[in-house]
Amino acid sequence: MKLVFATNNKHKLEEIQAILGNEFELLGLEEIACNEEIPEEQPTIEGNASQKAFYIFNYYGYNCFADDTGLEIEALNNEPGVYSARYAGEEKNPEANMDKVLQKLSEINNRKARFRTVISLVLNGSEIQFEGIVTGEILREKRGKKGFGYDPVFLPEGFNESFAEMDLSVKNTISHRGRAMEKLVKYLKTLD
Ligand code: IMP
Repeated sequence: MKLVFATNNKHKLEEIQAILGNEFELLGLEEIACNEEIPEEQPTIEGNASQKAFYIFNYYGYNCFADDTGLEIEALNNEPGVYSARYAGEEKNPEANMDKVLQKLSEINNRKARFRTVISLVLNGSEIQFEGIVTGEILREKRGKKGFGYDPVFLPEGFNESFAEMDLSVKNTISHRGRAMEKLVKYLKTLD
């Protein structure tokens, strides 16, 4: 079965294709000539994942899955959440986003946070969603150079290294996205 993963990230595509095996032919956005920016206008992570997957299904006619992620900080009423990429402005600057989080939490001792990924899978027009969560806390300053986004300020529960200090292979086994992908792959394998 041909299945689109609504991403331009070749590495992510290869990784999931390797797990899925030959039953599924995974296609990225480039391969279906989808060059426009897919709208993400919903107020929730679930809504955005859904909007992206249905966009591909409706306009390109492929079965598809799409992911959306947010950092949810307990003391900030789950902010930045769906606004994680553009928390400090439309230029989507990760350093500015982290600075905003650190500043907002500067007087707050409750540092609990989690990353949450939702994957929306649309098969023949029907949708099913999968969620992956990693809990942890927001550090008092940035630590580490690896990764992206909020990785330098996120300490996953049970670990002494921030996501930005950790090897990617370790991060992938415990991360929100890794966990949601695991559920998706498990489901797709039942369809073989
Ligand atoms: P997306 O839905 O995967 O594009 O994620 C939205 C935003 O959440 C990103 O722009 C990052 O700011 C943040 N984010 C998502 N995943 C991660 C992660 O694994 N580490 C750090 N930040 C992340």
